[in-house]
Order: sequence, then C-alpha cells, then structure tokens
Amino acid sequence: MEDQTQAFKSGFVAVMGRPNVGKSTLINALLGQKVAAVSPRPQTTRKRQMGILNLAPGAKDDPANAQIVFVDTPGVHRPRHKLGELMNQEAAETLEDSDLILFVADASQPPQEDDQILFDLLSGLRRPAPVILALNKIDLIDADTLQGRKTAFAEGIPRAQIVPISATTGSQLDNLLAEIVDRLPEGLPFFPEEQVTDLYERDIAADLIREAALNLLRDEVPHGIAIRIDQFTERNRHGAYIEATLFVERESHKPIVIGKNGKMLKQIGTAARQEIEAMSGRKVFLRLRVKVRKNWRNDDKILRRFGY
Ligand code: GDP
Ligand code: MG
Repeated sequence: MEDQTQAFKSGFVAVMGRPNVGKSTLINALLGQKVAAVSPRPQTTRKRQMGILNLAPGAKDDPANAQIVFVDTPGVHRPRHKLGELMNQEAAETLEDSDLILFVADASQPPQEDDQILFDLLSGLRRPAPVILALNKIDLIDADTLQGRKTAFAEGIPRAQIVPISATTGSQLDNLLAEIVDRLPEGLPFFPEEQVTDLYERDIAADLIREAALNLLRDEVPHGIAIRIDQFTERNRHGAYIEATLFVERESHKPIVIGKNGKMLKQIGTAARQEIEAMSGRKVFLRLRVKVRKNWRNDDKILRRFGY
C-alpha cells in the first residue's frame, strides 16, 4: 500500500506591513488568541513577536502536520530618529532569516509611500524568501476596486502571490493558510505542539501596558511612552506579581499620565491588568510607576535597555 502520510512542514513566517494594515489583527485571528497587541493607533508593536500555529489536515483530532512560526516584524519607515534606524535594520534581518514573507497590505487604499518603502526593502534583500501578499480589509471594498488594487500591488512586488483576505471577518483566512503551508519547507516542528507563543510573557505584558496607556491617553502623550518591566514574579496559585515603569519624554507629561489623585494611572493599570489576565489565564497583581526620561527615542543606551 502506498504511504499516504504527508511530510511535516514547518517554518518561520515574517509578517510585514506598514502600521495599521491589520497585521496584529490577522495574527490574532489566525492564532485565535490574543498574542500581539492590537490598537487603533499605529506603531504600538515595537518588538518582535511570535505566535505559533499548529495545523492539522482535517478532523479535529488529527495530529498536526504543519507548524507555522509567525514573526511580527517591527514597522519600517523612513528613519527620522535612531529608533527608526534600528527598527529598519531589525526588520531586514527578520525578513532574511525567514522561510516565507507575509506582506500585509490595506486593500481599501492604493499603495502608499510607506508601502513603497517596504517594496524597496524587499527588492534589496540578500536572500529573497517567497512572498505572499495578503491584501487585507476586502470587506471595505467592491470587486472592481479589489481588481485594481491587485494590479497596483503586483507592480510593487511582482514575485508575490496575492491573497485577498479580511482579518476581521475571517474571509479567505483558510485559503491564506493553505498558501502559506504550500510554501513552507519540509521539516520537524520547532516547538512542542502545546506551545502557542514563545514570546516572553513579560514582553507581552509590556506591550499590553503600553497599549492600555495609549488607548486611555489618546493624543495627550503622543507615542512618547516606553515600558520597562521591573519585576515579574510567579506567585503560583496567587498568580503573577508585575512591577513596571512608564517612561515619558517630558516633565509635563508625567501629571497627565498620573492624572488627578492618580486616577489615570489607576485606569491604565486596571485596563492593562485585565488584558494580561485574559492573555495568561491567571490572576495578576500589577503595580505601575511613572518616570521622566528625556529623549529616550534618541538614546542608544536606553533603547538597548528597552530591548530594541
Ligand atoms: P497593525 O498596525 O498592522 O498591527 O494593525 P492592527 O491589527 O492594529 O489593525 C489596525 C486597525 O485596522 C484596527 O482598528 C483593526 O480593527 C482594523 N482592521 C484590521 N483588519 C481589518 C479588516 O480586515 N477589515 C477592517 N474593516 N478593519 C480591519
Ligand atoms: Mg500591530
């Protein structure tokens, strides 16, 4: 009898795309669990993030036959400060180290200047991995518009396989997964099957605190916040104890983040704690403080300390 078993496939998929196209939403939808920080504001995801998806061929109890390791690359943009430069370098390295590149674009708009920067980055890679272009947000446009967008984006990355999707409605996500698995190399799983993410929990916690702060502060402290996790201790059945510092760039931002009688900081802490508890499935005690660190964006030493 012929052997019907398919070879196991596994690989690293670098997710790239300009801010706000829906990368985090897509990863979360594919993983079915909140792993990356999703926010209506651009650029909340500054760190490399990984989610691991184990795919089985059909029935629910089938053993996995593919493992996709998603790497969420930092945003790429024309560098205006040191942080921008470091992020672009890191992005290029992530792309070159991956087995497949998943370029996420917003189908509701024509290619933007920031997409062009990514096209340039892709064509300049030393080791070009296959590219899938996920044309996201098709729920917002009609069929004719989609056709035009396909043509426009194909000009930017001629070698890409284009897959129209909607991360929020879930439309065509199965198709996207099939196209991804098709292009993965044969190989054993990199991580044990039950492991969904290997992102350090403290990094996720930092992202969730930053997301909570940005959501609550709106435009009052524009992007000038960095989070440092000072302590992350397991207390077994009592959950986890987390201490974190929110760094702001200006003295005048500190009272805004703290709020009257500490009200704002308390709100940020509550929102972040709930997200961290939802993510980790256990109780969390979260303690926040605020400090001023002028020009942290341009300070190499500080950026390294924050892990950029
Ligand atoms: P990222 O910066 O690329 O990670 O983008 P996010 O995942 O944070 O998404 C940015 C915004 O686009 C959020 O408000 C999402 O809800 C929204 N969004 C993401 N995917 C879709 C989609 O398929 N359709 C629509 N209508 N909105 C989407
Ligand atoms: Mg994101």
